Amino acid sequence: MANLNIKSKQDNSYDAIVIGSGMSGGWAAKELCEKGLKTLVLERGREVKHVQDYPTTNKMPWEFEHRGAIPEEIKKENPVVSRCYAFREDAQHFFVKDKEHPYVQEKPFDWIRGYQTGGKSLLWARQVQRWSDFDFEGPARDGFAVDWPIRYKDLAPWYSHVEKFIGVSGNKDGRDNLPDGEFLPPFELTAGELYFKDFLRKNYPEREIIVARCAHITGNAEYYAKQGRTLCQNRTLCQRGCPFGGYFSSNSSTLPWAAKTGNLSMQHRAVVHSIIYDEAKGKATGVRVIDANTNETTEYYAKLIFVNASALNTNLILLNSTSSRFPQGLGNDSGVLGKYVAFHNYRAGISAEFDGLKEYITEGRRPTSGYFPRFRNVYKQETDFLRGYAAGFSASRSMVNDYSGIGEELEQAMTREEYGPWRVGSHMMGETIPKEASQVSLDPDKKDAWGIPQLRVSLDYDANDEAMIKDYLEQMTEMFEAAGFTNIRTRDDKRAPGLDIHEMGGARMGKDPETSVLNEWNQIHACPNVYVTDGACMTSTSTQNPSLTYMAFAARAVDHAVKNMG
Ligand SMILES: Cc1cc2nc3c(=O)[nH]c(=O)nc-3n(C[C@H](O)[C@H](O)[C@H](O)COP(=O)(O)OP(=O)(O)OC[C@H]3O[C@@H](n4cnc5c(N)ncnc54)[C@H](O)[C@@H]3O)c2cc1C
Repeated sequence: MANLNIKSKQDNSYDAIVIGSGMSGGWAAKELCEKGLKTLVLERGREVKHVQDYPTTNKMPWEFEHRGAIPEEIKKENPVVSRCYAFREDAQHFFVKDKEHPYVQEKPFDWIRGYQTGGKSLLWARQVQRWSDFDFEGPARDGFAVDWPIRYKDLAPWYSHVEKFIGVSGNKDGRDNLPDGEFLPPFELTAGELYFKDFLRKNYPEREIIVARCAHITGNAEYYAKQGRTLCQNRTLCQRGCPFGGYFSSNSSTLPWAAKTGNLSMQHRAVVHSIIYDEAKGKATGVRVIDANTNETTEYYAKLIFVNASALNTNLILLNSTSSRFPQGLGNDSGVLGKYVAFHNYRAGISAEFDGLKEYITEGRRPTSGYFPRFRNVYKQETDFLRGYAAGFSASRSMVNDYSGIGEELEQAMTREEYGPWRVGSHMMGETIPKEASQVSLDPDKKDAWGIPQLRVSLDYDANDEAMIKDYLEQMTEMFEAAGFTNIRTRDDKRAPGLDIHEMGGARMGKDPETSVLNEWNQIHACPNVYVTDGACMTSTSTQNPSLTYMAFAARAVDHAVKNMG
């Protein structure tokens, strides 16, 4: 805090400050700016402009020095981020490297981060399934964590609001545990996936394969042209940044939209150190920011503060925001800040072959896959573990690669239109139970390059997760065998938590200030002009990919904040 930059308070004052420009921060910024608030977005990373800062977006495979692979020496230097499937030569520049931003792993945890404009919204797999009351009622029904202070009906209009704007391709499946939304035309299931869907309908009527809903534009092009975006071209090169804006990212959508209002200011390389709490006023008045390049500290002021630094970084900022009123971190009267963190259990998978359906092939690309909505313990408790899992499901058929012979023989071998068997696969997406012992805290000794305490992460699987993995593998094997799939292989890759990239909680929502940090509007109970609308707010995790829910929370919270501004 040595180099204090004392600009006039007026120069640095805004109506609202948003910390983080990623998926949820982009939404907070868009909504605040549209409602007329002068809004400052503080982003610790570098600027990444839509299209012009996507250096690999139009590269052909042979234009990459290593044909897309990450060289061994980079892997060795970056054991954590290298374990992420999307950390490849084409997108590595959007990931935080291990040594740049160290953290303390009390237990092994792979923390995957993207520090730049748009955060991880550039990199995500774009899967967007709504929650239902089977999810929001989970903790109350099954007796864990605390009851959510909201139900599906509270969020439903905000899901619609977000879906319309980001563009969601999907089918109206009419499932009560996976509500339909505002969908653009769906992608298609392959013949192999339709076969399994039909098999389930006849043999396991309560189970179903649907096409996964994903944040891609597949229709209504005129509407999205206003955002400067157009139809998805099925390139499936999304993680490079899409020059068509075919999938949703903050860079292509919410941030430019916010900028168009004239109300947006953005600061990059602005590391938020902490939130300033004014005891006399009894509220937060601004944030302290360290310039990542110069180490200079600046204070910015606003009536409203939205914390959207991504779940664990939001915990870090709140824990580091101490004052004599809040010696354990902002709003931490209950002592639960940093606790009850959970994630998704992605450890297990299964693959197989299918020798039927020889008359069908799969051609072309598709930026999504089949989705197996949760079927365990939905209507009642039926297993010895709590909650359940959803699963990805895909079936495809590709050409046999034959490189035999030389010259003409090789040419003929390579161009022969011969297809192999159907390859079928699934991976599990399990709910984990938030527990007090699953927590993040500030390391008492280790600091980062800007003197901010490093985050100490202590998360692990438990017996419930192990039982769920066993059940997933048993159930999938049973269904695969009955469907006539062969060469079935199951796996539990024993990965550490984190690679699911769905870490949640630590500043959970709840009805009671004694057991939760946020109220039903995502406001800190004891400091209501601070809103937390990223994954930190999540009381439980359910099975669905969570980002759609963060965006809906952000839009809903802004509406509440602006309506209630003094
Ligand atoms: C490969 C991959 C696949 C994924 N697939 C899916 C999927 O299919 N569906 C899904 O729902 N989710 C998916 N996710 C997760 C999804 O990306 C995140 O849930 C989402 O981006 C979280 O939004 P956020 O706003 O909380 O955080 P982010 O998008 O990470 O944004 C946080 C921003 O805050 C900034 N920041 C952090 N600390 C500070 C600070 N101290 N000061 C200033 N700025 C700060 C960061 O630089 C970053 O830009 C995936 C993620 C990855 C990487």
